[in-house]
Amino acid sequence: MDVSKRAFNFCAGPAALPTAVLQRAQAEMLDWQGKGLSVMEMSHRSDEYMAIAAKAEQDLRDLLVVPNDYKVLFLQGGASQQFAEIPLNLLPEEGVADYVDTGIWSKKAIEEAKRFGRINVAASAKAHDYFAIPGQNDWQLSKDAAYLHYCSNETIGGLQFDWVPELGDTPLVVDMSSDILSRPIDVSQFGLIYAGAQKNIGPSGLVVVIVREDLLGRARSSCPTMLDYKVSADNGSMYNTPATYSWYLSGLVFEWLKEQGGVEAMERINRAKQELLYKAIDDSDFYSNPVAHNARSWMNVPFRLADEKLDKAFLAGADARGLLNLKGHRSVGGMRASIYNAVGLDAVEALVAYMAEFEKEHG
Ligand SMILES: *Cc1c(COP(=O)(O)O)cnc(C)c1O
Repeated sequence: MDVSKRAFNFCAGPAALPTAVLQRAQAEMLDWQGKGLSVMEMSHRSDEYMAIAAKAEQDLRDLLVVPNDYKVLFLQGGASQQFAEIPLNLLPEEGVADYVDTGIWSKKAIEEAKRFGRINVAASAKAHDYFAIPGQNDWQLSKDAAYLHYCSNETIGGLQFDWVPELGDTPLVVDMSSDILSRPIDVSQFGLIYAGAQKNIGPSGLVVVIVREDLLGRARSSCPTMLDYKVSADNGSMYNTPATYSWYLSGLVFEWLKEQGGVEAMERINRAKQELLYKAIDDSDFYSNPVAHNARSWMNVPFRLADEKLDKAFLAGADARGLLNLKGHRSVGGMRASIYNAVGLDAVEALVAYMAEFEKEHG
């Protein structure tokens, strides 16, 4: 196909993948590097596949500068399975864990964790209608929390931390599903990082977990084998058959990211993309975004039209121009543009041009 005909895809997830990655996967689909078979058909124990898996892990380690005392796991069940896996591994039955509520995804994590023990909601953005993040000075932390969980980027509300909590010895556990690899982080600040792949990494179903080694081997005895981080780590994420093709495709994305200049380059481009889009929203009386400026997400930009009766026409016009999946989450309404790494500045420029055109016609 003529790749210039590919649409600009603003989907929140599963989200856009780099065209170059899909082309590479296409070229290797029937015959991976002259071996005469597809990656999808390989034994996960084969030398070929083991090399693919190891390279993906190494590239991710390079991109995020993951310290040696952290394991990188490629697991299944998406980010949502981690909502249970985390307390099963890290929360002793008589213990307590602190959670910060900044929106729908952190609330889901809280609800699931409550099935396994005592959960203290140390802070909630509810008091700010989920348009701002309460500062750490206002958090009600437990004295002996097993860990603190938060979500660095609320994909639905468009609320993102631009800081990392500082908690001394309490391990920080973070859901980075929708902003991992979008800019540099210091992995050593965290006990455990997890991210569903389908936003900024690769295909859905896969979840990447980066966990400090001292947090392994703490699972309760009732923890299912498949959910025990130590079992996964000891078996190189291959206790059972891993999601081989998703892992391979994620590896291609990591290679692509390195070619682009890594997470530093992504930060520069992502900064420019969000500046352009929020400026278009703020400069008009027709579009609005209610999130406090220091908590605005670089990855997911929800916005409303002045009159929601125009939503349908806006989406139809966008579709006709190849600007896809701009409808906001059903719980929020309005619009949402997800502008992950694979969505380039050209996509945001096209969106902003369309927004101006639509406003001129209907504003
Ligand atoms: C998408 C998303 C999830 C859920 O991911 P699944 O892989 O569908 O389970 C969890 N947290 C955040 C922040 C997300 O964006």
